[in-house]
Amino acid sequence: MRALPVNRPVLRWRSDLAGEVTGLRAHAAVQGPTHFRVATTENTMDLQLLIAQWSGALPSGFVPHATIRQDLGRCQQPRCTGTVAIKRDGTPAKSCWRCLDRRAASCRRQRAHFVAKGGCRRCAYRKRLEGDFLCARCREDRDTERAQKRQDAIDAAAIDEFAAKPDKVHKASNLDCGISPWNARSKPQPSAAYWSPLPDPEPKSEQLWRHSLDDTGWRISRS
Ligand SMILES: [Zn+2]
Ligand SMILES: [Zn+2]
Repeated sequence: MRALPVNRPVLRWRSDLAGEVTGLRAHAAVQGPTHFRVATTENTMDLQLLIAQWSGALPSGFVPHATIRQDLGRCQQPRCTGTVAIKRDGTPAKSCWRCLDRRAASCRRQRAHFVAKGGCRRCAYRKRLEGDFLCARCREDRDTERAQKRQDAIDAAAIDEFAAKPDKVHKASNLDCGISPWNARSKPQPSAAYWSPLPDPEPKSEQLWRHSLDDTGWRISRS
């Protein structure tokens, strides 16, 4: 077995970890009275575990697993045997810390060199414009960013103004109810047909069905 650094936690094999409760379940177990069980359809789930899963954050006092960093690679820089650095997000980088610092310093030096020779202060790749400290492209980008920033400030001000207004119950206006002069029913108006109805298209003298053929109207017959 390889010799391990003294500051590393004691390594345990998987068989040793098998019968032991670790992680969130162990944390929930030591919580004691605040430990509830929530019944779900699939199984019973610890409330702490549920909260952790929903909130995406570990509970306070949670001790994570001891990370066994055995598979950390070697620095990829030539003639360097250092262990790769761990980036801020926890993923391993390609180089060790010393090489990263060295390369960053080299980049800074080269950048300062180009700037001193008349390069753009921002990209150090193109030549500066006349009377400006930026190249044309960086100037354009910077103007765009400034405009965007200004628009963001305007939006934030509008949001703040809206948030500063006191809350009140929304009173529905006529416009909210859909009442508008544009979709209103027109008022009834007397039309010309009311005041002067059209004459009958057929004269009543020609409506022969109004008069019976054999009924003269006399009900008492002396015949
Ligand atoms: Zn290195
Ligand atoms: Zn530039």
